[in-house]
Amino acid sequence: MECAARGIVEEPCASGAHRRCGSCGAVAYCSKGHQFIHWKVHKEECARLATQMSRIDMLSQFPFTFSVEPLALNHTNRSMRCLFLESMKVHLKGLWKSECMCGPDIASVKDPSITTEWNMERSLCPCTEPENPVPAPLASWEDYFQWRSLPLHSPVAVLLHWPLTLYHCLQLSRVRTSRYDGHDTLHIHYLGPEKELLQLAVFAELRALFPGVHLRIELVGPAVPRSRDGEVVNISSYPNCSGESCHCRSSIASENLNCSAVTLRIWKGLYHERYGDIVKDSNPHLILAPNAGVAAYPSWMPTIEMIRGIGVPAIFTDFCEEAAHLASCCISSITGQPLGLPIQVNPFRQPIEENNSALYIPCYSNGFVFGM
Ligand SMILES: [Zn+2]
Ligand SMILES: [Zn+2]
Ligand SMILES: [Zn+2]
Ligand SMILES: [Zn+2]
Ligand SMILES: [Zn+2]
Repeated sequence: MECAARGIVEEPCASGAHRRCGSCGAVAYCSKGHQFIHWKVHKEECARLATQMSRIDMLSQFPFTFSVEPLALNHTNRSMRCLFLESMKVHLKGLWKSECMCGPDIASVKDPSITTEWNMERSLCPCTEPENPVPAPLASWEDYFQWRSLPLHSPVAVLLHWPLTLYHCLQLSRVRTSRYDGHDTLHIHYLGPEKELLQLAVFAELRALFPGVHLRIELVGPAVPRSRDGEVVNISSYPNCSGESCHCRSSIASENLNCSAVTLRIWKGLYHERYGDIVKDSNPHLILAPNAGVAAYPSWMPTIEMIRGIGVPAIFTDFCEEAAHLASCCISSITGQPLGLPIQVNPFRQPIEENNSALYIPCYSNGFVFGM
């Protein structure tokens, strides 16, 4: 953890920031002096951070029976994520490759063919059509795992939080396909994709979640490598399990039985700069910006300005409640209105905590949801 006063104090910090604010416990300081100086900044946020800290236990509640605690932290230099993935025997394998820091980064992957391997036995992952239609609406990971007949020791939620968060946001925005165009195509504009670009096959699960619907997802963001601009990915089957004889590997499985399909199109650039091209072929029902960091990147401001103008429901997620709070301030300053969808916990957040180098507050990929 870094000293919270770093950047606003003139003299350098002492090594190590071990003094935590006694009121919120969310920030740390290298010295009493730095804590004193920082109070003029921190007093505005201290009570709010204290409330966020009080949700640590609630946020860490998941139905899963696997343990995310490090098995052997005395093996230093290994992150908790790596140890967890190793314990699940999926470290640096298949779709899991980019789940930890040792995996490839988005820019370095030149081969656009998408990874479609769960690297898990059949009973642990959804590799075929669901046995029953989706009971609407799924409200939690318990609901999802029960419907898909998956055991609670399976870690697939770590990857499936992408499509399930999209599903949840569509429920929240009350988008109904028929109400819009009657031909059962849902258009999503998905802003700021990062490691999802190396895990695109997990969006196949949307076929099971929206039977009979064609989902068109336009992924647009500055992290898209130039070589992938314009790439189209059609998904008509689920990622494969490791079972050699499982029928997810036969050609019959890839035949489109429930006529759902997911088409992903990839665009490099900022949304407000590419929107004119994207919208020619895809008028959005929902704009989704996962793990957006609205307050951290000034380039969001013209994008939010534009979204306000086009009047399409837009939902954002962020890692922690404080980021969501700061984003809501930015958004309201542009729209002149409070959020249309107030900040709330995402039941389909990723079930492994993220490291946060600046605050002790709880932090999860797709942790909190809010919307214009
Ligand atoms: Zn300091
Ligand atoms: Zn405090
Ligand atoms: Zn690793
Ligand atoms: Zn299979
Ligand atoms: Zn955070």
